Amino acid sequence: MTDRYASFVQSAAGRALVKRLGLPDPPRLRRHRPGDPLLAGPALVGAATGGRLAEPITKILTAAAVEWADAAAAEQAGGAAAQPARAHGDTPQRYGALLFDATGITDSAELRQLYDFFHPQARAVLPSGRVIVLGTPPQECPTPREATAQRALEGLVRSIGKEFGRGTTAQLVYVSRTDGDAGTLTSLESTVRFLLSGRSAYVSGQVIRVGGGTASAPADWDRPLDGQVVLVTGAARGIGAALAKVLARDGAQVVALDIPAAGDALAAVANDIGGTAVQLDLTAPDAPTRLAEHLASRHGRVDVVVHNAGITRDKTLGRMDADRWDQVIDVNLSSQERINDVLLERELIPAGGRIISVSSIAGIAGNRGQTNYATSKAGVIGLVDSLAPTLRERGISVNAVAPGFIETRLTARIPLVVREAGRRMNSLAQGGLPVDVAETIGWLAWPASGAVSGNVVRVCGQSLLGA
Ligand code: NAD
Repeated sequence: MTDRYASFVQSAAGRALVKRLGLPDPPRLRRHRPGDPLLAGPALVGAATGGRLAEPITKILTAAAVEWADAAAAEQAGGAAAQPARAHGDTPQRYGALLFDATGITDSAELRQLYDFFHPQARAVLPSGRVIVLGTPPQECPTPREATAQRALEGLVRSIGKEFGRGTTAQLVYVSRTDGDAGTLTSLESTVRFLLSGRSAYVSGQVIRVGGGTASAPADWDRPLDGQVVLVTGAARGIGAALAKVLARDGAQVVALDIPAAGDALAAVANDIGGTAVQLDLTAPDAPTRLAEHLASRHGRVDVVVHNAGITRDKTLGRMDADRWDQVIDVNLSSQERINDVLLERELIPAGGRIISVSSIAGIAGNRGQTNYATSKAGVIGLVDSLAPTLRERGISVNAVAPGFIETRLTARIPLVVREAGRRMNSLAQGGLPVDVAETIGWLAWPASGAVSGNVVRVCGQSLLGA
C-alpha cells in the first residue's frame, strides 16, 4: 500500500503547501541497500568524564569504516564549546551521527555533560541522522544517585527523537558492566552497526539492553546470517514475506511457513529466495511435532525461530463472540508456546539460537476493538520476559519486536481517517514498511547479537501510542 500524501509532500507543489499550512512533513527515510556506507556523513563521538565505552565505540566505528571525530578535539578546533564543530574554514561540519558515552555520569549534576555535547550539535545533524547514547543499566549501578542519573538518559533520548526531525532517530543503549566480556562487546558492535545503518530507519526512541550472553562476529558484516537455518512463520505475504527476503539476502537458509490456503504465494516467496516452503496451519494439534520432524529431517536444527504469523478478529469486547477471542489467542500466542516447547524439548534450537516473536504496540498501549489481539500481543511480551532468563543458560536469546503502523494489507483495511491518523502519529510522520520490521528482526537474529536478550524493540517511528 502506498502513502500518497508522503509522495505528494516530496513534490514542489507539496512542499509549498506543507510549509504554508503547517501540515505534517514526512521525511524520506534512508533505508539500507547492500554495499551502502553505514552513515551519510561522519560521526561525532563524545564521552562523559570517566566513561568506559569510548574506546570500544571508536574501535567499532573504525572497523565499520565510519569516519569519526572526537568531540573534545573538534571543540578545540572550532573554538567555543557552544559552537558547532567546524570542518574547514567557516563551513559548519554536519554529522551523520552523534554518539555519546554517558556511562561516566554518576550524579544528576553531571547530566550537564549531555547538554554540553548535544546543544551545539542539535542543528548539525544530517537528514536521517542517528543519535546514540550509551549508558549503564540502572539496576547495575552501585549507588542510588548513579542509578537515578542513568535512568534520566531515557528522557533526553526520547525527546531528541521527537525534536531533531528530518528522519533522525535517537536510541539509548544500556550496556552491562561486564567490561571486556567478548559477547557483550560483539553485541554492542552488532547493535551500533544496526542503529547507525538504514536498517533501523523506522526504529526510534528505543531503550535497548545489551549484555550477558555469548555472541560471535560474522566473517562478513554484509552477510551476518551466513549458514543460519531460519524459520519464518506467516511468510506468504506482508511482513513475513519481507522477512524471508531480508534474511535470505543476509545469508540465511530460510524455511518459510504458512497455511495451505496461502500455498501459491508461499511457494513464490520461497522460490524467489532459494528457500523451502512448509504448508502448515500452526493451530493444528499436530503442527509442533510435524514442524519439528520437518526441521530435524531436512536441517538437523533450526538456529532462528521467527514467530511472525498473526491474525486480527476485531470487535469491541461486548460484541465479540468466543470464537474470535479463541482464534486470536491461539494463533498469536498459544501456538508460539506449543512450538517453542517442542523445539526446545527436542533440542532442535542449538546454543547460539534465537527466538524472536512479533508483538505489536497494541500489546503495549491496548486498542479499542482489539481486546483479544492486545491480550495476545502483551502475552508475547510476557513470553519474552519469562523465557529469556532461563534460555540464556542454554545460550539462546529471546526477544520481540513490536511494530506500530506498518503499510500492509492488515493496515490497508483500517478506515481512511483512522488510518491517516495512525500513520502520522509518530515522530517520523509516516507508516513503516514491512522491510523495517524485517531488518530489525534480522539484527536480533544475527549470531553477533547473542548478548541482546529479553528486549522488546518497537518498530513504530516513535509512535505516540503507549509511549
Ligand atoms: P498479514 O495478514 O499480511 O500476514 C500474516 C500471515 O500469517 C499470513 O500470510 C497468514 O496466512 C499467516 N497465518 C495466519 N494464521 C496462520 C496459521 N494459523 N498458521 C500459519 N500461518 C498463519 O499480516 P502482517 O501485517 O504481515 O503481520 C505480520 C505480524 O506482524 C503479525 O503477527 C501481526 O500481528 C504483526 N503486526 C503487524 C502490524 C501492521 O501494521 N501490519 C502492526 C503490529 C503487529
